Amino acid sequence: MDDDPADGHEYRIETRSIHAGQHPDEETGALMTPIHANSTYEQDAPGEHRGYEYSRTGNPTRTDLEANLASLENAEYGRCFSSGMASINTVLNLLSAGDHVVTGNDVYGGTHRIFTQVYEEYDLEFSFVDMTDLSAIEDAFRDETELLWLETPTNPLMSIVDIEGAADIAHGHDALCAIDNTFATPYLQQPLDLGADVVSHSLTKYLGGHSDVVGGALVTNDEELDEQFGFYQNAVGATPGPFECFLVLRGTKTLPVRMDRHCENANVLAAWLEGHPDVDRVYYPGLESHPGHDIADEQMADFGGMLSFELDASLEEASAVVSNTDVFTLAESLGGVESLIEQPAPMTHAAIPREERLEAGLTDGLIRVSVGIEHADDLIADLEGAIYTALS
Ligand SMILES: *Cc1c(COP(=O)(O)O)cnc(C)c1O
Repeated sequence: MDDDPADGHEYRIETRSIHAGQHPDEETGALMTPIHANSTYEQDAPGEHRGYEYSRTGNPTRTDLEANLASLENAEYGRCFSSGMASINTVLNLLSAGDHVVTGNDVYGGTHRIFTQVYEEYDLEFSFVDMTDLSAIEDAFRDETELLWLETPTNPLMSIVDIEGAADIAHGHDALCAIDNTFATPYLQQPLDLGADVVSHSLTKYLGGHSDVVGGALVTNDEELDEQFGFYQNAVGATPGPFECFLVLRGTKTLPVRMDRHCENANVLAAWLEGHPDVDRVYYPGLESHPGHDIADEQMADFGGMLSFELDASLEEASAVVSNTDVFTLAESLGGVESLIEQPAPMTHAAIPREERLEAGLTDGLIRVSVGIEHADDLIADLEGAIYTALS
């Protein structure tokens, strides 16, 4: 039994988000982890240091954040990187030429780009499949498959992947199962408990939570994997600075209360949109009409703050809607306290050819929102006004 909330896994996530990995400073009593703006450390004798020698290799502010994030995912080990892409890159560093990866046909655009435009050049192969269909995942495996990379909920249609089922398939083929848990956050979904080997995060989104920092993390319960991640952290050098780590530590303290409000607002907004005459379809896993609702209900504590909806509108009309809001800011990204709105076709998903985009359900009138923690009534009034102005 371990009574210290700084490392006690038996405390609930609301308590761990505030305390895990953090101790008041022994010398001064300072409550908050300081920003250790420091590149090198005094050694007592050559090679004899007090845990730190150089800040790319390790930094005390980063150490506290890594322990905090590991605790949130019920994990033993955490490693932080300079961005979500840098953490994804680190998982790919584990692979060698000739290896094959199975992944979703709707993965995050940056993930699709690093797979096809960086690692295909190094002779890794990727299969992009519909991950909501477990038999499609199974069929995509080959002898060379070393990694299953998945996201759930996905972007922008909020498709839900059965994590336990997918992890079982990966393990049946001796492959690693890694999950990008950025959309759900550890407050709503703990993939390691469902069988995943690695969880990847863009700290830029909900974990930072205030749209003021870019960062990434990998967490795992596998000591050997963690050691490899540590090796690449140091060898490649895509590590976050202490100020970035401090900002994310500040963010994770309020993750549970923020997520509760994100979910509450998204739920209200989704129900309102579903009843709107100009809205053809709403993609929110909390709605019973969503094809992934039952699995989401089982593997998530709540349904998150992201939703998309399809307006019965042309590309231009939908563009007018997202340009006409006052509370929602027209911007890419997600997970901050403020509500954001965007149109995937000309923005986040513009790189996908139109035919392919339409086939995937990403219509011209599709709009994605990151529901913030403002008052739900203000969000509804804002959207109602923008839709009315643009479509009538
Ligand atoms: C933003 C995002 C990333 C990339 O993270 P960065 O911090 O922007 O590098 C990866 N995956 C998902 C799901 C994201 O939303």
